[in-house]
Amino acid sequence: MQRKTLIALSTALFTAGFTGAATAQTPTPAPAQPPMFATTKVDGTDNVYVFRYQNHQSMFVVTPAGVIVTDPISYGRPQAAKAYLDEVRKITKAPIKYLIYSHHHYDHIAGGKVFKEAGATVISHRRAKERLAQLKSPDVVLPDQVMDGKRTIKLGGTTLELVYTGRNHSDSSIVMLLPKEKILFAVDFNALGAVPSRLAVNDSYPVEWEASLKRTLALGWERQIPGHPGPGGRLGTRKDMEDQLAFMTDLSAEVKKASDAGKCFDPATKEVRVPKYGTLAGYEQNIEWNIHRWCGYWGRGI
Ligand SMILES: [Zn+2]
Repeated sequence: MQRKTLIALSTALFTAGFTGAATAQTPTPAPAQPPMFATTKVDGTDNVYVFRYQNHQSMFVVTPAGVIVTDPISYGRPQAAKAYLDEVRKITKAPIKYLIYSHHHYDHIAGGKVFKEAGATVISHRRAKERLAQLKSPDVVLPDQVMDGKRTIKLGGTTLELVYTGRNHSDSSIVMLLPKEKILFAVDFNALGAVPSRLAVNDSYPVEWEASLKRTLALGWERQIPGHPGPGGRLGTRKDMEDQLAFMTDLSAEVKKASDAGKCFDPATKEVRVPKYGTLAGYEQNIEWNIHRWCGYWGRGI
C-alpha cells in the first residue's frame, strides 16, 4: 500500500513538473522522497509494462520469444537505461529483440546502448534516423532499421503495429499499437488533460498535428500509455486525445483570425485566449507558447 502511495505521489509531482502546473509551497516536514523509477504492469494485460524514470516513461512488452522495449529515456542520466534493463530482467531472461524509438528527441531516446549490447535491433521512423545521423550525438544509438507508413512486428504471440500518423510534435513520431490489447504508446503529441508545454510545441507542425491526431484516433485503441505520466499516473483515454484535438483546432482558428488582423506575434500572444479550455493543466503557463508557435505558422508560413 505504502509503495503504491509513493508511486502515486511521485507521479503527481512529476506530472506537475511536465505540465507546468503551479506547485504548492513545500510543507514542513519535507515529504518522503518519491522513487526515482517504477515498473507497472498494465491492468488487464499479461505482458505489457510501463517503465517510468522520473518524468519520462516507456512501454515494454514481454513475450516467450523475446522482449520489445521502447524509448530508453536516458538523456542526461545514463543510469536510467541500465535501471530499465534491470527492471526487464527481473521479469524475464528472454532476449531483448527490439528497441523502438517513438521519435528522435533525445530526452526519450538517448541511452539505447545497453539494449543494443543486449542484442536489440533498433527501429525508428525513416526521418528519425535521418535526423539522428546528422546530429551525431554520442549518447544516441542510430537505428538499424527504419519504417515509413506502417510496419507490423510479430513476436512470441504478440502483434505490435508501428504506425506513422503524420507530422505532429515532431516530423519523426510514430505510434505503437497493440491491436489485441487495444493499447497505444504515443509520445509527446497529446498531453493528458493539459495544454502542450513549450518543449512540446518547439519542434512542431501546426495543422498537420491536428490531422495526425485524427489519424491516431482512427486506430483501434482504448487506452494510451503516454511518454510522460498522466495525472495521478493514469493512462490516456480517447477523450484526452479528442480534447487535445478540440483545443488545438479552436486555438488554431483564433490565432488565424489574429494573424489575419496583423496581430502576430504581438499582441496576439497576450490577446488570444480560448477560455473554454482554461481548466486544462498548464493553461496559463503554456498558452502563450502555443500561440507563438501557431502565429509562426499562420503569420509567417513557418
Ligand atoms: Zn519530443
